[in-house]
Amino acid sequence: MYAWTLHQPQRAEQNPLQKMDIPVPSCGKRDLKVNISACGVCHTDLHIVEGELDLPVLPLVPGHQIVGLVAEVGEQVRRFSLGDRVGIAWLNQTCGACEYCQRERENLCPEAQFTGYHVNGGFAEAIVIDERYVYAIPDNYDDFQAAPLLCAGIVGFRALRVAGVQPGERVGLYGFGASAHLAIQVLTHWNCETYVFSRGSHHRKLAQKLGAVWTGQAGNRPPKPLHRAIIYAPAGWIMVEALKDVAPGGVVTSGGIHMSPIPQFPYSLLWEERCLNSVAHATRTDGEDFMAIAAARTMITEVEIFPCDEINQVLVLLKESKLKAAAVLKVKA
Ligand SMILES: [Zn+2]
Ligand SMILES: [Zn+2]
Repeated sequence: MYAWTLHQPQRAEQNPLQKMDIPVPSCGKRDLKVNISACGVCHTDLHIVEGELDLPVLPLVPGHQIVGLVAEVGEQVRRFSLGDRVGIAWLNQTCGACEYCQRERENLCPEAQFTGYHVNGGFAEAIVIDERYVYAIPDNYDDFQAAPLLCAGIVGFRALRVAGVQPGERVGLYGFGASAHLAIQVLTHWNCETYVFSRGSHHRKLAQKLGAVWTGQAGNRPPKPLHRAIIYAPAGWIMVEALKDVAPGGVVTSGGIHMSPIPQFPYSLLWEERCLNSVAHATRTDGEDFMAIAAARTMITEVEIFPCDEINQVLVLLKESKLKAAAVLKVKA
């Protein structure tokens, strides 16, 4: 099968991924083989390709927002059948035995394996994965619209959960990219009032269209103090600005993997039980709960579709912030 493979981390401009013919993986007892039709491209893929994350295995096929059809099932597979349309996300395997796995925090499992990082991912014609880490894709999305749900959607949703968002609350979203534009639709579903902070006027317009009650830029004060603030932009100074925006007892959550250093700030900003925290990956429960909301309420997912052969160019566009929407690769010709 064809796979777009990384042999050595390189800058995106140097065409780091090569199209190769590699063996089709074989299916274990609890595994599905999925023929891939679409795979989203995420900032984490760019970090992997450029070597900003330590790479456990090379050569490697990146990609972790995968949609496709079940083409083969292992003998102990129970949840899925041949021909089912399924989705595969970042969390690929966990140990099931450590204290994190036992306490519903499997996203923190030290043995966790991630799709397109520890094991080959979705920039390929097929993938084999344990069925327990696979999601059903709701019928109200085509393959391309469904792809961003699997990382931007699920991880963005976990940020709402870690921030402790309750129905009807006032919630600030700082940065309005792929995660935030799905998170706002969950917040609307929960009857929350959403306040969106973004530098881009295009993003602020989209936020208004998706239900924001107020838009501005980080550093502007919202008209009312917020209950929760979620930072999707990788800028540490915004954490401090968001602390100024939350009411006593409010929570400020960082939803990103990377962030520039957080500047020093006076204790008075944290006083009155304000809280700072962060999100790492997501559990399968987060994924299932988010997909249930996505099934009940059709979310608008803005995508730009590219042939898989253009993956290297897409990574450059992503790096230079030149994409109009979330990039999704059309894998099946
Ligand atoms: Zn991702
Ligand atoms: Zn574990």
